[in-house]
Amino acid sequence: MKGRIKELVEAIHKLAPKGKKVKIMNVCGSHEHTITVSGMRSLMPENIELVPGPGCPVCVCSESDIINAINLSKRDDTILVTYGDMLRVPTRMGSIRSNGGNYRMVSAPHEVLRIAKENPDKNVVFFSIGFETTTAPTAALIEMGLPENVTILTSQKLTPEIMEVLVKDSEVGVDAFVAPGHVSAIVGANAWRVFPEKYGIPTVVAGFEPDNLLLAILKILIQLRENRAELENVYRGVVKPEGNRKAQELMYKYFEKADVNWRGIGRIPKSGLELKEEYSHINAKKVFNLPEVEEEKVPGCICDKIVLGKAYPKDCKLFGTACTPSNPKGPCMVSGEGACNIWYRFNQ
Ligand code: SF4
Repeated sequence: MKGRIKELVEAIHKLAPKGKKVKIMNVCGSHEHTITVSGMRSLMPENIELVPGPGCPVCVCSESDIINAINLSKRDDTILVTYGDMLRVPTRMGSIRSNGGNYRMVSAPHEVLRIAKENPDKNVVFFSIGFETTTAPTAALIEMGLPENVTILTSQKLTPEIMEVLVKDSEVGVDAFVAPGHVSAIVGANAWRVFPEKYGIPTVVAGFEPDNLLLAILKILIQLRENRAELENVYRGVVKPEGNRKAQELMYKYFEKADVNWRGIGRIPKSGLELKEEYSHINAKKVFNLPEVEEEKVPGCICDKIVLGKAYPKDCKLFGTACTPSNPKGPCMVSGEGACNIWYRFNQ
């Protein structure tokens, strides 16, 4: 172990409360990646549990939205455009890719403009999914001015809202949060203030290097030892208390809070962002009159429990046997941010 890491791990062992389990949840696929790849769990005292939460955007994208995307991609007059991981997420109908429709993969929303220009006789639908980090670029795309043949199918989720669902669920039993660095850069550290102040849960914003995450864990243990619950930020170079105001203004210029479905979790009031009424003409759900389809659970898949921190990937009987990254049965095995995918690839 390198000097700084060794120091932090030793301090964590010294401060860990004796004989009491402490469940520290991360809500970011990149945090889970660092924790798993670095072997951080094996460095923790036995009673400190580092649990992944709902930090993977494609894992929580509702089956209904994906089925609508598949059906749009099968229309002769339409091209469905989305991020690479979304193409492989399984539903009862298969994935966007396995249905072999007309789709294109992009790594950033502005690429939609090129596709629209090259295909003026087609409807180009951008399937925009994810947390606050992807909503802001989609809002920026709209701000640039959409060509007439472009509409947006939104499946945008809000991170603080799902965390509030978790703290109210006694089965989850979260003792502390490591707040996500990338989302915090947009929404600001202050977005998590509700957790210590209303629910008494220590919350520390962290970056993605192992030493920064260990420092966040140490700060949490210090708070618990001193019987305090506060908001702290150990990723100050990137995350400001108020976040990125410009990005927030742009998001809320075009989007408003809406009740949305989370895969495996259900409908949560005001937990997502939907295009405002005045932008109905670019809202694919309205333009194509898309229905809301009731979710069907993937048989044997416990992804719903994993994203809520109630189970680990290895608790699933299909993990690494019937379900692998090359043959994902559930959404948590698809993306490099999904807990099952990370645990499989790095042999947790
Ligand atoms: Fe679902 Fe596959 Fe994960 Fe099991 S291993 S929970 S089937 S994604």
